Amino acid sequence: MTSIMWFRDDLRIADNPALVAAVHEAAPVAIYILDEESAGIRPLGAAARWWLHEALVQLRVDLADRGIELVLRRGPAAEVLAALVREVEPTAVYWNRRYGMAERTVDTQVKEGLRTSGVHAESFQATLLHEPWTIHTGQGGHYRVFTPFWNQLRELHIRHPLDAPDRTSTRAMDQGPRIDGDDLDAWGLVPTGADWPAKLAAQWTPGEAAAWWVFEDFADGPVNDYAEGHDLPGTTGTSRLSPYLRWGHISPFQLWHALSSRPGPTSGGTMAYLRQLGWREFCWHLLYHHPQLATRNLRGSFDRFPWRWPDRPGAETPRCLRGDPPFPASEAATADEPVDAWKSGATGIPMVDAGMRELWETGWMHNRVRMLVASFLTKNMGVHWQVGEQWFWETLVDADEASNPANWQWVAGSGADASPFFRIFNPNTQARRFDAQGNYVNRWVPDALLPGYPEPLEDLADSRRRALDDYRTIQGS
Ligand code: FAD
Repeated sequence: MTSIMWFRDDLRIADNPALVAAVHEAAPVAIYILDEESAGIRPLGAAARWWLHEALVQLRVDLADRGIELVLRRGPAAEVLAALVREVEPTAVYWNRRYGMAERTVDTQVKEGLRTSGVHAESFQATLLHEPWTIHTGQGGHYRVFTPFWNQLRELHIRHPLDAPDRTSTRAMDQGPRIDGDDLDAWGLVPTGADWPAKLAAQWTPGEAAAWWVFEDFADGPVNDYAEGHDLPGTTGTSRLSPYLRWGHISPFQLWHALSSRPGPTSGGTMAYLRQLGWREFCWHLLYHHPQLATRNLRGSFDRFPWRWPDRPGAETPRCLRGDPPFPASEAATADEPVDAWKSGATGIPMVDAGMRELWETGWMHNRVRMLVASFLTKNMGVHWQVGEQWFWETLVDADEASNPANWQWVAGSGADASPFFRIFNPNTQARRFDAQGNYVNRWVPDALLPGYPEPLEDLADSRRRALDDYRTIQGS
C-alpha cells in the first residue's frame, strides 16, 4: 500500500499534518510539482526560484533520511498528479491547504478528480494559525482593519505543533517500484545572471534545520528587545525568518508555542513579535477575501489616481530575469528611467538607496526600510505601486503572494487599513530617527558623500506637495 504526500509551501518534516497522515496511512511517495502553467498561478520571481532550488535539495535529503523518496515533476498540477496516481495507485493523497484563488481552484479540481477515481483525498491546515474564513466580524464579514482581527485571533486556540514522523513508520526507499522524476538542475531555477546566486548563498541557507538555527539566534537575544529593536535596520533586531515562513521550513504554530511557552512571563518583545505573525495572517485573510490583491486597488478611488509612471504597469522584464548582470553603480547612475535608479539604489537619497542595495545584494530588506522605499516610489516619484510590488516579487527571497501586495497597498494608501496617503515618509528624517549612528546607510551606501554619488532624484518637499495635490484629485470620488 502506498500514499502520496504532495508538498507545496510546506517544505518541512516536523509539524506537517499532511505528511503525518501520509505516513500513517501507508508507505508514502512524496512529490513536489513545479506548476507554472495552471490558470492564474503567479510564476515565482527570480530570488524565490533560487530559494526553491536549494530548499528542494535539502528536503530531498531530509526525506531520504526517513526513507521517503521525493519525486520532482513539472506541469499543470492536476494533470501531473493524475498521472502519478495512475502509476503509483495510492490509497490516498494528502496535502496542506493553500489560500490563493488560483491554488484553491487547482486543489478543488484535484480533490474532485481523486474522489471520482475512488482515491481518498484529504487536506490539512498547516500554514496559518487560523484559516482565513474562521475569523470574521460580528456581522459575518471579513476584517479590513488589523487590530480587531488580531484581537480575535489571539483569543482563539492555537494547536500544538506535531512531531516529525520517525523513520520506522515509513517504507524503505528500495521497496516498491522506482518512480521517475525530473532532474532538479534541468528546471533551471538558479538564475544565470552574474554572481547573484553566490550572493544569495552567502546570506541564506534554505531548509528546515537552518530555520531552527536562525530561530535560536533570535530567541537567545533579539526577541527580548524586539519591541524597540525591530525598527532599527542597522541592528539585528528582527528574526529574518520571513523566507523560512514563506517556504514553510518552520510553521507559525512552532514559532507561537516555542516563544510563548518559554519560562517566565511572556515579554513585551515576544508579544510584539507574535503580533507581527498576526500581520502575516491578516495579509492572507485579505488575499483570501480579495483574490486580486496584487492587481486591483482595494480602495476603488485609487483606480483614478493620476500615477506619473507608468499609466499601467507594463510587461517590463527585470534585468535579473533576462540574465543581464546586476546593476553596477556606474550603470545605475546613467540609467535613463527613474524607476531603474530606484531599483538599483541610485536615487541620491541615501536611506532609499541603502534599502534597494540591501535588497539586491541579499534578497531581503528590513521592514522599516521596505516602507520607506515603497513610500518614496509611490508618493515622491508618483510611480504605480504595482511596479514596486513586481520588483519586490522578483528580488525578495520571502516574496509572498499575500504579504507583498497587501503591504504595497498599505504603503500606497490604496489598501485595507492603509497608512493614510498623506502620511508620506521623509526618508532623511526617518534615517535620523531609526539609523541615528548611520550604521545601516554607511554599510550599504559608503559612497554617499563621495563625488559621483547621484543628486537626489526628487526634491522631497516639492514631490510631497505634488503627491498631495494628486491625492486631492481622487478624494471624495
Ligand atoms: P520579523 O520582524 O522578525 O517578523 C516576524 C514575521 O512576521 C516575519 O518573518 C513575517 O512573516 C511576519 N511579518 C512581519 N511584518 C509583517 C508585515 N508587515 N506583513 C506581513 N507579515 C509580516 N513580508 C513577507 O514575508 N513577504 C513579502 O513579500 C513582503 N513584502 C513586503 C513589502 C512591503 C512594501 C512591505 C512594507 C513589507 C513587506 N513584507 C513582506 C513584510 C515585512 O517587511 C517582512 O515580513 C519582514 O521584514 C521580514 O523580516 P523578519 O522575518 O526579520 O521579520
